[in-house]
Amino acid sequence: GKGSVCFIGIGTMGREMVRNLLQAGHAVSVFDISEAAVADVVKAGALGAQNPADAARNADIAITMLPDTPHVEAVIYGEQGLLKSPPAGRLIVDMSTISPVVVRRIHADLRRIGVSFIDAPVSGGPLGAKNAALSIMAGGEPEAFAKAEPFFQAMGTTITHVGASGAGQTVKLCNQLICGINIQAICEALALGRASGVDLELLRRVLLGGSAASWMLDKLGPAMIAGDAAAGFRIDLMLKDLRLVQEHAQALNVPLPGTALVTSQYVDARAHGEGANGNQALFRVYDRITNQ
Ligand code: NAD
Repeated sequence: GKGSVCFIGIGTMGREMVRNLLQAGHAVSVFDISEAAVADVVKAGALGAQNPADAARNADIAITMLPDTPHVEAVIYGEQGLLKSPPAGRLIVDMSTISPVVVRRIHADLRRIGVSFIDAPVSGGPLGAKNAALSIMAGGEPEAFAKAEPFFQAMGTTITHVGASGAGQTVKLCNQLICGINIQAICEALALGRASGVDLELLRRVLLGGSAASWMLDKLGPAMIAGDAAAGFRIDLMLKDLRLVQEHAQALNVPLPGTALVTSQYVDARAHGEGANGNQALFRVYDRITNQ
């Protein structure tokens, strides 16, 4: 039978994920601090709640899709947070990209009161969310993963249990490191092509047909070339992810020189007011250093 879902965080990703849960026949009660965000999915059939505790009460599963670690902690531990009235199904799944260390602490806290916690960050961007085609990488107990899996199936196509609590976030951070450095590589190639007078759309199409092809070149390349900065995945969210990557690597004594270099370029982009723009706006760093 279909389940009952509590969903907290109805932003760029969350709104699409909620639509797909509804589409799959689940009942979804939602909360976001933005009333407009709630109203948007209520029109699609979700039930609006006053706070996370209200949204969770009768749910089989509570899902969070929030910007960063402190937001997830606030939704779980806050005054009207999920711990005030844990879901009837005793299962909380965070699908945001947050600190793996904090994930393991939350997991241990919840375990003491008989609530399972799964970290299940995603890859695939707003389009992957819209098409229910996300890659979902989950950490936690196999039994809890099995309970969450039918709900993941409504949102993603590649659903993988990657290990114990926190392992989902570790895999996601590896993903983000590659995305960040790949975006930088594309910016660098486009800057060189532009300086040589090559047509950039032609350059992109040729590269997509060879061994330099990538998701980023395919999906972000057009906006980069057109100078369209509208956000799907924001610069400030990537900076958050690169910070999490660095913290994780430092704790394990793993040097990441490529990540360090690209992080400094993202800091430059944010310092030039691009934090709310999409990741393709990293190209503007190259505009500046190539005097364009
Ligand atoms: P977003 O900022 O668009 O959405 C976050 C939502 O959370 C907003 O609607 C905000 O109002 C809400 N929120 C913040 N604090 C809250 C609180 N205390 N209680 C209730 N609601 C609260 O972010 P997004 O792009 O949807 O990303 C969400 C997460 O997913 C982030 O961790 C991000 O790194 C990750 N992610 C994003 C993408 C992408 O392409 N956008 C892809 C994969 C993963």
